Amino acid sequence: MPATHHPRVPAWPPKSAPRLFVAETLAAGAIVRIEGNPAHYLARVMRVAPGDVVILCDDVTGEWAARVSDAGKRDVVLEVAELLREREAVPDLWLCPALLKKDRFDLILEKATELGSARIQPMLTRRCVADKLNVERARAITTEAAEQCARTALPELAEPVKLDALLAGWPEGRALFFADEEGGEPAAAAFAAHRGPAAILTGPEGGFDDAERASIRAHPAARPISLGPRILRGETAALSALAVWMASAGDW
Ligand code: SAH
Repeated sequence: MPATHHPRVPAWPPKSAPRLFVAETLAAGAIVRIEGNPAHYLARVMRVAPGDVVILCDDVTGEWAARVSDAGKRDVVLEVAELLREREAVPDLWLCPALLKKDRFDLILEKATELGSARIQPMLTRRCVADKLNVERARAITTEAAEQCARTALPELAEPVKLDALLAGWPEGRALFFADEEGGEPAAAAFAAHRGPAAILTGPEGGFDDAERASIRAHPAARPISLGPRILRGETAALSALAVWMASAGDW
C-alpha cells in the first residue's frame, strides 16, 4: 500500500464513492473541474454535494480521494486529497482485433479492458464489414469499464490501421500470436512457452483471406495459434484468447 498522509479510517473513502477517470494528471491539493457528461453523472445521477468524496483516476499516477467543493448544474469542482493506490501494473499484451460490427466490437472494448489488455489496436482487413471506429466513443466504453471494475489503468486505444501497415510497422521483439482458424500451435501451450511483450491478432466476421493469411504467416514475429477445433466468432476469439493469455503468460 502507498504511504498516505492521513490515517485511514475504515469508512473513508466510502465504498460507494463515485469513480471517475479525468484527463489531467492528479496531485494532492489540485483543483479539478468536471464538466459535461461526467458532471451530469456526479451531480444528477450520484447526487454529490459539497464535502462528499469522489475517487479520481488519471491513468498516470493512480487513484486519489477528492472532495467536492462545489456541485453546480454545469460543473462539479473537486479538491484532490490523497493518493489511495498507485496505478496498477498491466501485463504487456496488445490485442489487435479486426474491426467488427459495432455492438460486437463494443463488447471487445469493454471486456478487453476488464481482462487487462495494455493496448487495443483495432485492425482493418479485406473482409471487415465495419470500416470506421469512433475512437472517442470507444474511449468512453473502455473508461466506463475501468471505472466499474475499480481499475486504475486504462488500455491504450489506437486508431484503426490496415493489416499491411500494422505488419510493416511491427515493433521488434513483440511476439505476434495469430489466431488462425485454419490451425496453429494450441494457444495455451504457445502462450505458456512465451516470455516478454506479445500481441494477439484476430480476424473479422468472414476471417482472413488467403493472401492475408500468407502475409501474416510470413512475418518473422508471427506465431500462428489455434483456439481449438470450434470456429469462434471474432469477439469470442479475441476475448477467449486474451483470457487464456492472462492465465498462462499474464498475471492471473
Ligand atoms: N473464417 C470463418 C470465420 C472467422 S472467425 C468463416 O468461415 O466465416 C473470426 C476470427 O476469429 C478468425 O479470423 C480467427 O482470427 C479467429 N478464430 C475463430 N475461431 C478460431 C479458432 N478455432 N482458432 C483460431 N482462431 C480462431
